[in-house]
Amino acid sequence: AKAQGRDRSAVFDQVMRETALHSLELEADLRRAIIHDEFVPHYQPIVDMTDGRVIGHEALLRWQHERRGLLAPDAFIALGEDSGLIEQVDWLMYAQVVRRLAQQPKGYLSVNVSPRHFSSADFAERLLDLCRTHGADPAQLRLEITEVALLDDAPRTLRSLRTLREHGVLAQLDDFGTGFSALSYLHRFPLSVLKIDRSFVSGLDSDQPESFALVRAILALANTLGIETIAEGVETEHQRRALLGLGCRRGQGYLFGRPAPQLVN
Ligand code: C2E
Ligand code: CA
Ligand code: CA
Ligand code: CA
Repeated sequence: AKAQGRDRSAVFDQVMRETALHSLELEADLRRAIIHDEFVPHYQPIVDMTDGRVIGHEALLRWQHERRGLLAPDAFIALGEDSGLIEQVDWLMYAQVVRRLAQQPKGYLSVNVSPRHFSSADFAERLLDLCRTHGADPAQLRLEITEVALLDDAPRTLRSLRTLREHGVLAQLDDFGTGFSALSYLHRFPLSVLKIDRSFVSGLDSDQPESFALVRAILALANTLGIETIAEGVETEHQRRALLGLGCRRGQGYLFGRPAPQLVN
């Protein structure tokens, strides 16, 4: 038993070493990817669920890795956040998205904002400058932020969001219902859209009364505050109908389109 224990800890050490090596290697790769801008935004349509009309797109980060192929954010976002590299990656994404917006100015494009950005005082100015440089209309750009972003350094975040809003950049609260849900920030921050997290939407499939009640409560709250809603992760016709029945008109999900390099008209 003792020998077996030793073996097991040797295996464990080996795994730890490989994991550490892997993340060191990935971090080096990520630094190189930033220099060569190996990021390719994919766009997923956001539709009016009554008629399928596309009203905008969410830009989703993809990394064209030279050996590993196309990587989704799950594979590297935690590393990007820990190493502080995510901000540089995001700026490369925003530059591409803003350029796309200038070329193909139909509907809006939303970008994801890492919470770290709000600790820099010039986030809003820098984003507006980027729009000016490329001739994009800031009123067609939207930000997706999570509840976590609203927790730290609130005054600075508030200032950034206000400045952006004055220039027409709307803020959408991402993954609503999964975070701290203190709710007080809903009226403290200038938020225009609330994205209902996929976990609530998937519950509508099984006709669970609790899921219906939760979505209904979220919609009532948004309504009261005059905030628009978008349902995330809509995968089935059943979910689409249920959401429309509850009064949620905008949706995003595989049912309407997967993230792809091109915009959908
Ligand atoms: P998110 O902002 O909640 O984005 C929605 C995620 O759900 C995307 O995953 C999208 O591909 C996926 N999705 C869309 N429709 C469906 C559906 O019907 N079913 C299912 N199962 N999934 C669906 P993705 O692209 O892997 O992105 C994961 C997360 O990475 C995003 O979650 C966001 O938090 C983060 N992220 C994406 N792009 C960026 C970026 O440019 N910067 C930063 N900082 N984070 C990003
Ligand atoms: Ca998002
Ligand atoms: Ca989301
Ligand atoms: Ca998410």
